[in-house]
Amino acid sequence: MSSPLSVAELGLSQVRTWPRRIRALWRRSLRFRTVSITVALTLVAVLASGLYMSISVRNDLFSSRLNQVLDDSSRTMNSVQRLFESADISDRVAITTVMNTVRNQMAATSSSQLIAGYRAPGQEYNPYAPQGFRSSELAGGVLSTDLRHTVQDNLGEQWWQSVTLTTQDGDVPGVVVGQLVDVPGAGQYEFYIAFDLSDSEQTLQFLQQTMLIVGLALLLLVGAVAWVVVRLVVEPITIAAETSQRLADGDLGVRIRETGADELATLARSFNGMADTLQQRIRELAELSLVQQRFVSDVSHELRTPLTTIRLADDVIYDQRHTFPPATTRTAELLHTQVERFEVLLDDLLEISRYDAGSVQLELEPTNLASLAQDCIDGMEALAAERGSDIRLVAPGGHGDVEIDPRRIRRIVRNLIGNAIEHGEGRPIVVTVDSNADAVALSVRDYGLGMSESDQEHVFDRFWRADPSRRRTIGGTGLGLAISTEDAALHGGVLDVWSRPAEGSSFRLTLPRVAGGPLTTYPLSRVPADADGTTPVRKGEES
Ligand code: ADP
Repeated sequence: MSSPLSVAELGLSQVRTWPRRIRALWRRSLRFRTVSITVALTLVAVLASGLYMSISVRNDLFSSRLNQVLDDSSRTMNSVQRLFESADISDRVAITTVMNTVRNQMAATSSSQLIAGYRAPGQEYNPYAPQGFRSSELAGGVLSTDLRHTVQDNLGEQWWQSVTLTTQDGDVPGVVVGQLVDVPGAGQYEFYIAFDLSDSEQTLQFLQQTMLIVGLALLLLVGAVAWVVVRLVVEPITIAAETSQRLADGDLGVRIRETGADELATLARSFNGMADTLQQRIRELAELSLVQQRFVSDVSHELRTPLTTIRLADDVIYDQRHTFPPATTRTAELLHTQVERFEVLLDDLLEISRYDAGSVQLELEPTNLASLAQDCIDGMEALAAERGSDIRLVAPGGHGDVEIDPRRIRRIVRNLIGNAIEHGEGRPIVVTVDSNADAVALSVRDYGLGMSESDQEHVFDRFWRADPSRRRTIGGTGLGLAISTEDAALHGGVLDVWSRPAEGSSFRLTLPRVAGGPLTTYPLSRVPADADGTTPVRKGEES
């Protein structure tokens, strides 16, 4: 007993089938394939262009903001330099006052309040030199030693570096610009101004969000457009495919509705034209076939009466053949044989035309197939003995009664045994009968001439003979196996063959236990067990 699935397990098991379902849908639906490919390509295009736009906008935003920042700081530094140059610095108090003014000036002139100023290291001690200053945001490693060293080594030059600033709003991207300035009477001072770039970052984020929304909307739009377009184009093709399927199934009256004058209307018109021609040709062929069937049937019936008269006359002549001169006796015997063949041929032709007319009815009765086979063997033993063949029955099964038409099955078995005698080269013939729960089977194995692969393909065709020049003693018409196949098919059974040149043949008849029932298993193998064994020798050939 299987354990019950939880909802989660059920969901998971369904999810697992998705790849298989999607693969099946991909193979089956042109619509799904086209829409998927269009959406995938659009996605690639949207991603590529979005990425390109995002990078170029970001670069552009940054460089223009940087230029602005550098201009700003350059302006501030110039004003600071001018302030120092114009100041009257005579004592420590004066310098400190000037430095405070510089500090205020820097904050006022630049757009940023984040400023710092340090006395450059490595200068001799100056008691007048005022202390440096620094906004709190520039504490803790914001000003890298790298930047400071570069600034310290290059008097009057502006240097910048990208940094992360810690503000009340959290960490934000920024830029620090620094310059070394000569302060008269106090030595060299490094001044730094940091600029918050979060506004540029926000602009970029806003732009990226907008692009994402536009991209998704574009994707949905393209998918919907592709769906509608494909629907417009594929629907008529689907209708054409379904219609041709119905046509192939034999519904010759189906047609496609023709609307408009576009390519699809041309397709519908050509399709309908093709269907009209096909219907016309099939009707003509059916009529022709009917005429032919009727002709064969009429001719056979018409020949019956004169043949009966000829048969009566032949019987009289044949009975008195000993009273004729030897040459006439021979002619009388020849006439007798040919009249007999004519009768058989006429019977076969009438039987075939009955099949063609569809007027054949099975007369089912419970029959024991093994006994039926034994009867047939008994009836043909004399003929087999004439040809030196010995017929053996092997019947491990098939002793129970099955519902078959005994007259038709007997005809098949006699025909198969007759052929085996005819082509068996005087070697033994083995008739095997077996059965299982679904079917009964009978095979007739000979060790005679056998047939090539291509001969086997035609062996059940009407009027076909492997080699018309082969000597005939029984006088076949070439219709025997064709009639046998029809008889087997009428029971819902099959007649098939295994054969190899010089190794003999084995014809196998398989019938469902219930006539017309399904045939799923075969009690006997088509290839005989001794297929690769030694061929039995003919009587008198033994060493
Ligand atoms: P026929 O009345 O000529 O025997 P069938 O339809 O019974 O007509 O057989 C058609 C042809 O199949 C035969 O002429 C023969 O060439 C070939 N054939 C049938 N049975 C055998 C067999 N057991 N061995 C070799 N050839 C065979």
